[in-house]
Amino acid sequence: MDTIDPRTTLVLISTMSGLMALVLYALKRSYPPSIRGLGQWSKALLFVVVGGAFAASRGKLPELFTTAVPNFLLCWGVYRLYSGSQSFFGVRPRPRPWLAFIGGVVLVTMWFTWGSPNYPMRLRMVTVVFGILFGLHAWLIYRQGTLTFARMLAIGTLAFITLIQVARLITTFVFPMGSDVLDPTPQHIIFIVSFSFSILLLSISTVLMAGDSLRVELEYLATRDSLTNALTRRYIDEACDHELARSQRNEKPLALLMMDLDHFKRVNDTYGHQAGDAVLVDFVKTVRALLRSKDLLGRFGGEEFVVLLPETPLDDALVVAERIRAACANPPDSTKIACTVSIGVTANAASSDTVDTLMARADAALYRAKSKGRNQVVIG
Ligand code: GH3
Ligand code: MG
Ligand code: MG
Repeated sequence: MDTIDPRTTLVLISTMSGLMALVLYALKRSYPPSIRGLGQWSKALLFVVVGGAFAASRGKLPELFTTAVPNFLLCWGVYRLYSGSQSFFGVRPRPRPWLAFIGGVVLVTMWFTWGSPNYPMRLRMVTVVFGILFGLHAWLIYRQGTLTFARMLAIGTLAFITLIQVARLITTFVFPMGSDVLDPTPQHIIFIVSFSFSILLLSISTVLMAGDSLRVELEYLATRDSLTNALTRRYIDEACDHELARSQRNEKPLALLMMDLDHFKRVNDTYGHQAGDAVLVDFVKTVRALLRSKDLLGRFGGEEFVVLLPETPLDDALVVAERIRAACANPPDSTKIACTVSIGVTANAASSDTVDTLMARADAALYRAKSKGRNQVVIG
């Protein structure tokens, strides 16, 4: 322990936090604004940087700037890391009560500096604030469900630093604490070293979490039609290939619906192109509400859509198609523009079926539905 100097370590924490703040700020500038929290994490680290620098200046600056000021800045920085994660996960931060709480705690620590000097009491109070914030932060990320590597790294780091706070609190009742954080006692050194590593690992996990979000968002954009949010034609083509192979492997049927809105040109001509767009969006919502989560709905182009129904025999697919047709023919909301749909239905029959034969059969059935007068379901 003699070889680790607390002041140097504090300077190191500050430098590392400053560098990570720069990285997060650069990411904020290059990532889409839909990925929130980056700016807040970056600012939070700056509070840690300045707080660490003040704490390391003990003996070189007036006592206020090496006790109360860094205590406030470090607690506030740790809070802002938490509130950055709240924003990232779409939870609204509530900074005011936290500002009042942290401000109140720091005021009381000032009493224990000048009113009735008691270093262990000051230490306990700041340790409790850190512990609460790190613990809540770990819990927030844990509650988000899916545990990616980045989230596990963040939760692990936060759980570790929370435990360090608990251990530190206990040691204040057991071991002599010295007179300030720069006393090279083992408990101070362990705290400072683990704090600095935790801030570094937490910053890395925020960068990774933001990267995960960006990837999910880009994947979503690449596979969705921008008007209706239905899957793109390319995605459906690939999914059809994949589902057909699976259905042949498992000997379970795969059904396919080819749908085309009737006289859609008239809708545009009568109500305008924008109203036509709204009809397309409504149509996708209506259909999606009638499907299971494993079914896939794609836009093939214009007012033509496809539904893939895995593990569905032809009879069941007919029922689904008829429900879709009826929902469009009798919309529950009378203000909606009436627009019926024609549907061609097919299911893979022989093992020789390919994506092309399946699509061609559904397409031919759709064509027959149109020629028979539209607003109907035909089997192919
Ligand atoms: P049918 O019953 O034979 O299918 O007649 P239809 O009028 O629906 O078919 P047609 O292929 O003649 O016209 C399709 C129309 O769909 C023409 C095109 O302007 C319109 N359309 C295609 N994509 C969009 C879109 O994204 N928004 C809007 N508003 N209209 C679109
Ligand atoms: Mg049409
Ligand atoms: Mg068409």
